[in-house]
Amino acid sequence: MKDQLTLLIRLQELDLQRNQQQEECQKLPERLQIAQQSLDRAKALLSQERALLDQLNKEKKEKEDQLRIIEEKTVKLKSKVTELKTNKEYQAYLCESAAAKSEQEKAEDVLLMVMEKGDSQRKTVASCEAMVASEEKMLVLEKSEVEEASRQLLESARNLDRGYMELQEKIEKGILEDYKRLASIRKGVVVVPLKGATCSGCHFSLPPQLVAEVKMGIKIHTCSYCHRILYAAG
Ligand SMILES: [Zn+2]
Repeated sequence: MKDQLTLLIRLQELDLQRNQQQEECQKLPERLQIAQQSLDRAKALLSQERALLDQLNKEKKEKEDQLRIIEEKTVKLKSKVTELKTNKEYQAYLCESAAAKSEQEKAEDVLLMVMEKGDSQRKTVASCEAMVASEEKMLVLEKSEVEEASRQLLESARNLDRGYMELQEKIEKGILEDYKRLASIRKGVVVVPLKGATCSGCHFSLPPQLVAEVKMGIKIHTCSYCHRILYAAG
C-alpha cells in the first residue's frame, strides 16, 4: 500500500504542475494585451502632439502672411516719400512710418515666438515617434517571447500528460477514483502527510487509532474531518 501512496503523491505533484501550467498559459494573452495597450497609448499621445504641431505650422503661415502684408504696406509708404510737398504732410508721413515700423516689429516678434514653439513641438513629436517605435519593438519581442513560452508550455504539458498516463495505470482503480473524486471537490492537495497526530490538510487532531493505522500503511486511510488521503511522511 505504501507504493500506491507514493504513486498517488507523485500523481498529485503532476496534477499540481498541470494546474500551474494552465495558470501560466492563461496569463500569456494578458502579457500581449499589456504590451498592446502601451503601444496604443504611445500612438494616441503621438497623434495628439502631431495635431498640436499642425496647429503651430498653420499659425506660423498665418503670421508670415500678416507680416508680408505689413511689409508691403511699409514699402508702399516709403515710395510715397517723394510725393510729399508740405511740412505737415512730412510730419504725418513720419508718424505713419513710425507706426508701421512698430507694427512690423511686433509681427516679427510674434512670428518668432510661434516658430520657437514649433521647433520645441517638433522635438516633442520626434520623441513621441521614438517612443512608438520602441513600444512597437517591445510588442514584437513580447509576441515572440509569448509564442516561445506557449510552445514550451505545450511541450511540457505533453510530457506531463504522458507521465500522468503511465502513472495512472500503476494505481489501483478504486484508489485512483477516490483520489480523482477528492481532487475534483478540493482545490490544492488532497493527499496529505500526518503532522504529529494531526491532518496537515485541515489541522484537526486525529484519533490515535487512525494515526497508528496510517503509520502502518497497510491500507488507504482518509482524514475523519476533511476526507483527504493521509500518509505518514518519511
Ligand atoms: Zn483533514
